[in-house]
Amino acid sequence: MLLQAKRLSLVEPSPTLAITAKANALKAEGKDVVGFGAGEPDFDTPDHIKAAAKAAIDRGMTKYTPVTGTATLKDAIITKFERDNKLKYERKNLIVSAGGKQVIYNFFMATLNPGDEVIIPSPYWVSYPDIVKISEGIPVLVQTKAENNFQISPEQLKKAITPKTKVFIFNSPSNPTGAGYSRKDVEALCEILIKENIMILSDDIYEKIIYDGFEFYNPAMISNELKERTFIANCVSKAYSMTGWRIGYGAGHPEIIKNMDTIQGQSTSNASSISQYAAEEALKGDQACIGKMVSAFDDRRKKIVESLNKIPGVACRMPQGAFYVFPYIDGIYKTKGFEALKSKSKETSLSSLFCSHLLEKYDVAAVPGSAFGDDNAIRLSYALGQEGIDKGVARIAKMVQDLNS
Ligand code: GLU
Repeated sequence: MLLQAKRLSLVEPSPTLAITAKANALKAEGKDVVGFGAGEPDFDTPDHIKAAAKAAIDRGMTKYTPVTGTATLKDAIITKFERDNKLKYERKNLIVSAGGKQVIYNFFMATLNPGDEVIIPSPYWVSYPDIVKISEGIPVLVQTKAENNFQISPEQLKKAITPKTKVFIFNSPSNPTGAGYSRKDVEALCEILIKENIMILSDDIYEKIIYDGFEFYNPAMISNELKERTFIANCVSKAYSMTGWRIGYGAGHPEIIKNMDTIQGQSTSNASSISQYAAEEALKGDQACIGKMVSAFDDRRKKIVESLNKIPGVACRMPQGAFYVFPYIDGIYKTKGFEALKSKSKETSLSSLFCSHLLEKYDVAAVPGSAFGDDNAIRLSYALGQEGIDKGVARIAKMVQDLNS
């Protein structure tokens, strides 16, 4: 009996979730593992948001809601877009799903036909290519370079476009690199996307986690013409430390929303009603909690970049947003110790070999860069306490020292 559907043959399990699960299993066995794995803020969900959820339970808001979300949460999302992005949406432009990931999944399921191409600048978030493949589309990866701030250039974009190109994925600040596009950069790409009649999926999930005065722009904020062809995916997980509540939201053309409604209605129905009430409070309540978390991330960002760059063979850029660093470690691949590891292993991805050795022997969980399309780097999430960061980086330094000796 064949237990696996054909469509799964092209799809991998999420590496970010797999590494975090492995790290948690080791922790449960009593190991003192430092988890730089999944991007999950270490802060508790702010009290006013938790209070709104408790009040919703007490009011008996424990039943089904409309598939695409409650009217009051949609109104809070409308308020958010007006306040933060100067964008006007109506309820018919919005969908609420179980996390940003489900928004992106529903979007591609609703828009792609077999063989449609989706341009994805690489390094990319792990799930983009796989979601495109599940939706029978073809991911077209375009490699960007650290020295160009990991940005796809207008020339690279033009080259990647074919008559089959349907969607371009825009993610600023980026997971995993933390790099962001300025308004001018966004405009230069969008000019081409308009000309070639290509849709944009703008993943704005790290919109609020930005540093050094970076100004956030998504394509929809540039012009009405671009707003028409942009679908925005966002969520409350990162900015409000609400990963487990699973609330994401999408904004775009009512026709796309209607089709996403059908997909969600035939799969998961509405996102958790209690979480929706919590998200409503997050989006329209006091926003001061974000600033406090971002300022803590900022301190950690500077310290982690500084200490990683002190390790021989490691080169790490300062991210402009999100809470990840994407240090290049290919300098370490040339060490005697790593060569020896390679010769004993069947692993073809060097960053995976690096990360498995790091976890098995030094109790540090990190995500291999190969999961994001670049085998010369690893991704570390610094959304954990400073003590853990210091301990983890010291262990990486020790591993590199051992590989050098
Ligand atoms: N988006 C986060 C990450 O990249 C959470 C895990 C996931 O969904 O991939 O680590």
